[in-house]
Amino acid sequence: MEEKINKNSNLKKELKHTNLKNTDKRKLQAGEKEKSSEHCPYAKKCGGCDYQGFSYKKQLEKKQSYMRKLMEPFGKINPIVGMDNPYHYRHKVQAAFSCTKRGHIVAGVYEKHSHDVVDVEQCQIEDEQADAIIREIKNMMRSFRIRAYDEDTGYGLLRHVLVRKGYHSGQIMVVLVLVSPILPSKNNFVKALRKKFPEISTVVINVNDRKTSMVLGERNITIYGKGFIEDELCGCTFRISPTSFYQVNPQQTERLYKKAISCAKLTGKETVIDAYCGTGTIGLIASSKAKKVIGVELNRDAVKDAITNAKRNNIHNVTFYNEDAGKFMVEMARNGQKADVVIMDPPRTGSDEAFLSSVVQLAPEKVVYVSCGPDTLARDLKYLTKHGYRMKECSPYDMFPFTRHVEAVCLLLKER
Ligand code: SAH
Repeated sequence: MEEKINKNSNLKKELKHTNLKNTDKRKLQAGEKEKSSEHCPYAKKCGGCDYQGFSYKKQLEKKQSYMRKLMEPFGKINPIVGMDNPYHYRHKVQAAFSCTKRGHIVAGVYEKHSHDVVDVEQCQIEDEQADAIIREIKNMMRSFRIRAYDEDTGYGLLRHVLVRKGYHSGQIMVVLVLVSPILPSKNNFVKALRKKFPEISTVVINVNDRKTSMVLGERNITIYGKGFIEDELCGCTFRISPTSFYQVNPQQTERLYKKAISCAKLTGKETVIDAYCGTGTIGLIASSKAKKVIGVELNRDAVKDAITNAKRNNIHNVTFYNEDAGKFMVEMARNGQKADVVIMDPPRTGSDEAFLSSVVQLAPEKVVYVSCGPDTLARDLKYLTKHGYRMKECSPYDMFPFTRHVEAVCLLLKER
């Protein structure tokens, strides 16, 4: 009890020095009080938030100490960068739709270890407007005679709804994942939905007729707007399509990318490789500070988006390649090509030895490793530090409050 009171007064002191709105400060303090009395009402069934019940300060401490244990053998660990307000940060929200035995439509997440849907009306980490749109779609289904898809019988139409919102642009994309490409009265449906939420700038039907746990199918049909939204990140504009990878926490992403680019200390003379580049975000943001940037990415659609993003931002010193990053780098090294900086942002599974050994052969002065999987980061750092690199610093970022995930930027320098 005493611990709780102390922490709450510490939080009060901490909040005093932030530039948060008073309502946000009150929310944060309420969140702190909630920890032992009122948990998220869905916590037990949903299981999405591993750190449910811990104050935000405690969550950051846990992540910091985990990173310290894992990374300290390699070098300096900076304090974790947390959020000013750790609630409602997810700008991509996904809800599975289903129907109970009594005929009630439910929308939310799958219950832990099952395919029963937990009916989530409001989630503390999801964007509130996105949740409101999903609630509205649930309400509209009866009058539009749209049935939720039933996995067992195969009847019904609507499987999932995905909402993506641009943090700076405010543009909203609604993706209706259907078993068939036909949505009855689609124009009236869009009209009714936009009447409540005029911020919706595009509505897409995604057709997923397979028996699969994957949310999205391959075919997209735009029924309103352009079929994508745009948002700004660190001064560049990016296209976000229904299937393209785009970080879900825009505020922390800006901080993470700024750190990744600033720690490379670019002067305008460097050749930079943006490996695992996705839609080109990091490389395009870095391009104004480099001589040239080479982006490599395995996903063909992501590369198409990256090329569009380069044009959209009038950037001419970036080239994108649709290849396996490891193979591409091995080829570069074999051809005697050089790079000054390699920025790498692999998936949670980390990199592989083909890629890491080609980094060693290319011998850039700096490697900036952006990681969303601390364990695989440690594994890959073991390789790099055995082969002529040393870690100068590691900066953890909290991109996913209330979950156990930690993102980090590590700067490695070539030993002389
Ligand atoms: N840097 C981007 C994307 C990071 S996610 C951003 O911040 O938005 C990791 C990316 O690595 C994904 O886009 C995935 O398609 C890509 N990827 C996975 N394996 C790869 C490989 N072997 N070679 C190249 N890219 C790969």
